[in-house]
Amino acid sequence: MRRRNRVLVTGGAGFLGSHLCERLLSKDNEVICVDNYFTGSRENIAITLSHPHFEAIRHDITFPLYVEVDEIYNLACPASPVHYQFDPVQTTKVSVHGAINMLGLAKRLHVPILQASTSEVYGDPDVHPQSEDYWGNVNPIGPRACYDEGKRCAETLFFDYRRQHGIPIKIARIFNTYGPRMHVNDGRVVSSFVACALRDEPLAVYGDGEQTRSFCYIDDLIDGLIRLMNTPRDVTGPINLGNMSEITILELAETVIRLTGSKSIIVHKELPEDDPRRRRPDIGKARTVLGWNPTTPLETGLERTIEYFDRLLRTPHGVYETTIG
Ligand code: NAD
Ligand code: UDP
Repeated sequence: MRRRNRVLVTGGAGFLGSHLCERLLSKDNEVICVDNYFTGSRENIAITLSHPHFEAIRHDITFPLYVEVDEIYNLACPASPVHYQFDPVQTTKVSVHGAINMLGLAKRLHVPILQASTSEVYGDPDVHPQSEDYWGNVNPIGPRACYDEGKRCAETLFFDYRRQHGIPIKIARIFNTYGPRMHVNDGRVVSSFVACALRDEPLAVYGDGEQTRSFCYIDDLIDGLIRLMNTPRDVTGPINLGNMSEITILELAETVIRLTGSKSIIVHKELPEDDPRRRRPDIGKARTVLGWNPTTPLETGLERTIEYFDRLLRTPHGVYETTIG
């Protein structure tokens, strides 16, 4: 009998991780989710917990882990500025020690490992849109550095493990992603705007709101991650995964107010230190190498996100229904 592919997802109880676990289960994989529930939650994986091919382990990946798997997706790391600046030393630890532990596991097992890297490796970019050959403009001592430099060091480790030990690596540079199961208090712009709009509270736009981001819907992103994992051994990345359509934060606030029919007003607050002025991925590589193209328009994705938060805010411990087949 064919043995199922067994996949490890670190950070599997988080926003991205829980969607990835579901998608992998729907593709007939066995999934081991490893999470210390710092920013993730058991609610996120409540439905998957009863799936016969799903297993959850409470574990902090800054400590070694011994499991037997065929593939590793390394997603464990707080991703919102509020969360990763809460304990910046731990953020660097999970990015660097966590990567070393997971790379050590991949080395022992000789299995492919995918790193959830980030557009933050480009910092406040001088080049626009950002392509993978741009080395970035990161302040190494600012409040975002624990995350940006942690993720940059993780990329270094991935390439050195490949050069030194020959392990198959894949690096995805993920741009702002949004959708159901974002943490309601994570301070990220989409979750904050949607939650405030649904409560008719003011939407706080930092600075003049002319800074831009490009928002990718979660389902598109997960598709990109799985495509990257399934590429031949010589495809390492880094590969940008994100949506090309760029919007100012002020436009986003207006769109969320319109889509929710909210009575909220927009207020302006001080721009956080080192806040990138603009961000848009060049996804030419993802298109040619992965045949990947995000297809969900922003308004469609926002409507689904609003529906999720609306339900969540009505039932404080609400659980988002699964789509696992
Ligand atoms: P998230 O905070 O929802 O998920 C991160 C998960 O990692 C959580 O479940 C958390 O509990 C877990 N975790 C944190 N530290 C851990 C540790 N030491 N050991 C085990 N588990 C730990 O964030 P997310 O948005 O799902 O992001 C997932 C990954 O994708 C992160 O690595 C992040 O850097 C990357 N990423 C996300 C985005 C985005 O827009 N969401 C953009 C770029 C990169
Ligand atoms: N932002 C905002 N109001 C908020 C949260 C964020 O104006 O309540 C801005 C923030 O300053 C940044 C953009 O929205 O310019 C995206 O912020 P987020 O924290 O979501 O992601 P990142 O800065 O990491 O891209």
